[in-house]
Amino acid sequence: MSLEKLKKSIRNIPDFPIPGIQFKDVTTLFKNADNLKELTKELNKKYRNKGITKIIGIESRGFIMAPIMALELNAGFIPIRKPGKLPYDTIEESYEKEYGIDTIQIHKDALTPDDIVIIHDDLLATGGTMLAAYKLVKKMGVKKIYINFIIELEELKGRDHFPYDIEVDSLIKF
Ligand code: AMP
Repeated sequence: MSLEKLKKSIRNIPDFPIPGIQFKDVTTLFKNADNLKELTKELNKKYRNKGITKIIGIESRGFIMAPIMALELNAGFIPIRKPGKLPYDTIEESYEKEYGIDTIQIHKDALTPDDIVIIHDDLLATGGTMLAAYKLVKKMGVKKIYINFIIELEELKGRDHFPYDIEVDSLIKF
């Protein structure tokens, strides 16, 4: 199976959730067993020998593949969530969205200085969400950070926001 087949399985919804957005619906990829297996294989391929200890998923579509990656890579799973959802003490990062400010949080004891982590989300658009997640994890002082997406919307140039020495990977480009 090819990445092209995975790409074709992603449904495009015009003008969702607001006019002008071409929403990439990954549920049509996930619902097919062969596609899900192939996606899992492809996402993990380049991380097999990197000593990954934790996969960090961003709420909420990042929560779908991150735990699957964690199982495959023999790593733990850590959630980054919206405010007020995590029950223990948190640290947080705020970032500007098109309309207003958003905040994300992580448990303050979720990571240790020895951790080698992948931060995963389903899609890279402007990069604002992942940049905030990157800054949040960076504050916690882990050994190494990788960034991973299923989909990248290349024309938005979201990857340009990240430091040049950070590996930013996406599987399917639109
Ligand atoms: P951004 O912070 O602009 O990179 O936006 C990334 C976040 O918004 C991800 O969590 C995506 O799930 C969601 N998102 C942004 N644009 C789209 C889109 N065109 N299709 C699907 N999800 C999107």
